[in-house]
Amino acid sequence: MSTAYDELMAFTRETEALGQVAGRLGWDQETTMPRGAAAQRAEEMGALESVLHARRMDPRVSDWLAKAKGGDDEAKAHLRHIQRDFDRASKVPADLAAELARTTSMAQGIWAEARANDDFAAFAPTLERVLDLRRQEGAALADGGDPYDALLQDYEPGATAEQLDAMFGALRPRLVDLRDKVLGAPAPAALSGTFDESAQMKLSRQIAKTFGYDMSRGRVDKAVHPFSSGSGNDVRITTRTNPTDPFNCIYSTIHEVGHAAYEQNIDQAYLLTPLGRGVSMGVHESQSRIYENQLGRSRAFTGWLHGQMVDVFGDFGISDPDAFYGTVNRVHQGFIRTESDEVQYNLHVLLRFDLERQLIAGTLAVADLEEAWNTRFEADFGYAVDKPSNGVLQDVHWSVGLFGYFATYSLGNVYAGCLHEALSKAVPDLDAQLAAGDTAAATGWLRDNLQRHGGLYEPREVIERACGFAPNEAPLLSYLEAKFGEIYGV
Ligand code: ZN
Repeated sequence: MSTAYDELMAFTRETEALGQVAGRLGWDQETTMPRGAAAQRAEEMGALESVLHARRMDPRVSDWLAKAKGGDDEAKAHLRHIQRDFDRASKVPADLAAELARTTSMAQGIWAEARANDDFAAFAPTLERVLDLRRQEGAALADGGDPYDALLQDYEPGATAEQLDAMFGALRPRLVDLRDKVLGAPAPAALSGTFDESAQMKLSRQIAKTFGYDMSRGRVDKAVHPFSSGSGNDVRITTRTNPTDPFNCIYSTIHEVGHAAYEQNIDQAYLLTPLGRGVSMGVHESQSRIYENQLGRSRAFTGWLHGQMVDVFGDFGISDPDAFYGTVNRVHQGFIRTESDEVQYNLHVLLRFDLERQLIAGTLAVADLEEAWNTRFEADFGYAVDKPSNGVLQDVHWSVGLFGYFATYSLGNVYAGCLHEALSKAVPDLDAQLAAGDTAAATGWLRDNLQRHGGLYEPREVIERACGFAPNEAPLLSYLEAKFGEIYGV
């Protein structure tokens, strides 16, 4: 390869390393930073962000890109990622980028206060400002194309709203129908009692290891919102505990382990390069979701988990593994996306996807958003939103300008459905292994067929290579209808 390529890669490696440092400051802020350090930390992160921004737009990058051609598949993939980042950074005018950063950092606080007061009108003018700036950014990135599609590229390169709309349009009526049947049937018993929080953390760490999380290159801490942070050989996760709901801790942990295992299992040759990170939000979410749901909430695995919980907490009132499987997968009326079950979760996402497309297209005004939300919610869920904090104000995303992000949650579920179908064929005795608390064949299959590739292939391509068929919504629908049809007898 050319000298230009080598110079570009050396420069990029340093940028990637600085990006990891920025991520670790973010991790620290959510876990161990002293409260009094907040203002100083904001300045430190701002300084690092300016360095990163300048590096992304460095004129040498465009010179190197112009000279570095050809190479093997890995070199081509590196160049594709670097070119994409450079184009994105240079298409958005500097004053618009600065205004977006300023507005969204203030908007988050205004959103939090409006949510606490259940007052959408107090947030609406701020949301209008954020939306206006993101529409301008979308237009700048789109080059005459569709601004929403342009915004999607930040999270899911290659995806289009049209393609997602076809997938989600097929999901929605069958999920509404399944939700209707399930909520009309008698529900499995709910968990009751209290569960020691340090014992929950201990069990979670053990389950993290069960799912292949490498503790020598990671760690588990507590935070308000569970997340995974970092790539390569330093991938940390957080979880949370609730004394009356140990499932929150256990399944948040398994979810984040799915994200973290993806990052840990990427080929070491890609460390601190553009290929050394998960390729998209949708593919990332496919890993967290298949670990959490198709594996973690399966009848086989919950049978094993039941025994672990009895060992740790003693008799907690559900003595039968079959009943426990129903309890883990209990569907209940609820307003909050992040607390939703597998049946209703995607309905939450589809609602947001449709509304935000209309917001970006200008066919829905912010002033009408709350009413549009409530009408759609009642149509899909069969019960009415009682207050804005349980409806339009529940998620932080729009306040910080994340338009185009929600879709990747459901796309991840669709991908997880496809991967689970392929995995079940590749590992015929999957259930027997999970019933013994052994995930090695399942997580090994995901590592070898998907995770190790990092950013080498485009998102849809890496799923198709792993599954042997083009990603589509049918496997997820069959899985959900079979699973909940059986549990609820519908
Ligand atoms: Zn996730």
